[in-house]
Amino acid sequence: MNTYNPTLASHFALLLGKREAELRAMLGAGAAYESQAPEAQGREVLDFKDIAVEDTQAVVDEAKAEQATEELEQVVAARRRMRDGSYGECQDCGEAIDVRRLVALPGTAFCAACQQIHEHQLERAQPLRRTTPHGRYA
Ligand SMILES: [Zn+2]
Repeated sequence: MNTYNPTLASHFALLLGKREAELRAMLGAGAAYESQAPEAQGREVLDFKDIAVEDTQAVVDEAKAEQATEELEQVVAARRRMRDGSYGECQDCGEAIDVRRLVALPGTAFCAACQQIHEHQLERAQPLRRTTPHGRYA
């Protein structure tokens, strides 16, 4: 396995800087988009289909913005670890993280194995959604 080592630091420092700029631009653009209130677009007639589409779009944008905010936090924390010299180490088990994983997710703080454990814990913490009303006792 090709794991992270400090000789790759300058490459990943660049990658993190680029990702941070991208995410900040994305979040900034989102805020600008929101400031364009529907009234300002000079539209007088709205049918229900338009409203439904706009609602869906707003939910998608909100989810995207939330994801971008989360990733930005990870990237900022990763840059801090870069300065500490602990970048590329799993924050759980301390093993060096696979380089391919860092290329895909430069802000990640965990190796693939520890990430999986975290995701399983999150799944278990969420209420079950698969039960149907028919499956419950009346
Ligand atoms: Zn780990």
